[in-house]
Amino acid sequence: MNPFLFSDDNKRYHTLYYHNQHKFHHRIFKAVLNGGFTCPNLDGSKGIGGCAFCDGGSGAFTKALPLDQQLTLELSRIRKQDPHAEGIAYFQVHTNTYAPVSKLKERFETAIQFPGIIGISIGTRPDCLPDDVLAYLDDLNQRTYLTVELGIQTVHDPTAQAFNRGYDFSVFLASYAELQKRNIRTCLHIINGLYRENFTDMLHTAEILGQLRPQAVKIQLLHILQDTHYAELYQSGKLIPMTQEDYIFTVVKQLELFAPETVIERVTGDGEKTKLLAPLWSMDKIRTLGGIDKLQSTLDTWQGKHFS
Ligand code: SF4
Repeated sequence: MNPFLFSDDNKRYHTLYYHNQHKFHHRIFKAVLNGGFTCPNLDGSKGIGGCAFCDGGSGAFTKALPLDQQLTLELSRIRKQDPHAEGIAYFQVHTNTYAPVSKLKERFETAIQFPGIIGISIGTRPDCLPDDVLAYLDDLNQRTYLTVELGIQTVHDPTAQAFNRGYDFSVFLASYAELQKRNIRTCLHIINGLYRENFTDMLHTAEILGQLRPQAVKIQLLHILQDTHYAELYQSGKLIPMTQEDYIFTVVKQLELFAPETVIERVTGDGEKTKLLAPLWSMDKIRTLGGIDKLQSTLDTWQGKHFS
């Protein structure tokens, strides 16, 4: 018998599918959008060249068509999977609060009013949430199902400095507190396999973030992509990608440290296949997902087993 409460099947962690089914009672998919924003870590205001693993921002492959066209295309893609599904407008590319509030309103209001869209998810950096943006997000949160996604990746400042994140952990903590004060659903992104991080470091990130009781978490594997600084480290032999077995074990142990209520929106990720240098096993997501389920069952463990 599955000892994990937030599950209707064999999963021993709180999946996004379970969350959406219980909240909305039908299938929900993310409509991935490019709002035409940039990033302070790319345009020179914080840094140039971006994070060492960044090839221009996850989802940068999404074409910056007019927003209504992107929404139409994404909903059509989604409804090929399920004709009754609805979408969450996911502003994924670059830093989606790095602009004047007037520009944010233009993009986000268009998205939330689009037929078939039932919420909005905004990917951003904690150092791009000034007071006027927080006030607008507060207002947005009263009117739609809002999630703010923060790519923290690690709690360790030396690692973050080495990959050129451009802010330290205290900045994240302050912004996270502001979002929580406004009851804004917040999803934290973690990357496993960062340069110079070991198993203990990754577990520590999960432990510290778990104690914050975020509403959601995405756990991702480091994808080493062409034309990034990490690609150079990899090609020179300094950066060794994680093995699939190590990754699965690390995720299983991290899941033990998150509260059962925290929704685990991802336990693996999608690197752009044409740019992926390593690890190539990451393209076999089904084996990774199955490996996590199997190891949790073998070890008789589950999300939150060691959360207190
Ligand atoms: S914050 Fe995001 S978009 Fe900006 S450089 Fe880092 S990974 Fe790239």
